[in-house]
Amino acid sequence: MGAARPRLLAGESSRQANGAGLAWSCGAGRSEKGRTWLCGFAWGMYDRVPLPRWSSGRLTRLGDAAHPMLPHLGQGVNQALEDAVALATLLGASTSPAGVPRALAAYEGLRRDRTARVQLGSRRQGAGWDSSGRQLIDRRWIYEYDAWAEAVALT
Ligand SMILES: Cc1cc2nc3c(=O)[nH]c(=O)nc-3n(C[C@H](O)[C@H](O)[C@H](O)COP(=O)(O)OP(=O)(O)OC[C@H]3O[C@@H](n4cnc5c(N)ncnc54)[C@H](O)[C@@H]3O)c2cc1C
Repeated sequence: MGAARPRLLAGESSRQANGAGLAWSCGAGRSEKGRTWLCGFAWGMYDRVPLPRWSSGRLTRLGDAAHPMLPHLGQGVNQALEDAVALATLLGASTSPAGVPRALAAYEGLRRDRTARVQLGSRRQGAGWDSSGRQLIDRRWIYEYDAWAEAVALT
């Protein structure tokens, strides 16, 4: 049984412009020469550089809309959840509709640097990925963070 490298789709390169890479999904299949393929299809992975701002007046972003990242630190959902906790805490402490823009500014100020660090760290981790399983970046600062406590400290 021969394992094959996933083939690029038309128009794709293995490293896309926005710090991206290639992911593949595994399953059984057969190539033209009758060999079993372990990987069935491939798709591009994309992120973005950190945005300079998320909020405008009474609107803001969270999750992937604010900080799309590569999966190499496994943080896409976690960062979205941290955003949600921080946003709910800061909006909950706002006593009137007039306070919403201030709460959103505090939310953005709290979250933007941290999520940018995770976005760029995910890129770095992906760029250096190899089969040794070594960790390129220390992750303790990711796991030791308490989004609720950080937001409460701003209220
Ligand atoms: C294959 C894959 C594997 C992943 N694995 C992991 C993992 O193991 N761990 C991890 O932490 N993260 C993982 N992620 C990343 C994670 O899924 C995302 O970071 C996370 O889902 C972002 O949540 P979100 O709510 O910001 O966006 P989304 O989950 O994309 O939610 C946005 C929602 O808005 C809806 N929507 C869009 N436009 C409109 C509109 N105009 N009107 C109404 N609704 C709209 C969409 O349908 C969607 O339901 C993975 C992602 C992919 C693609």
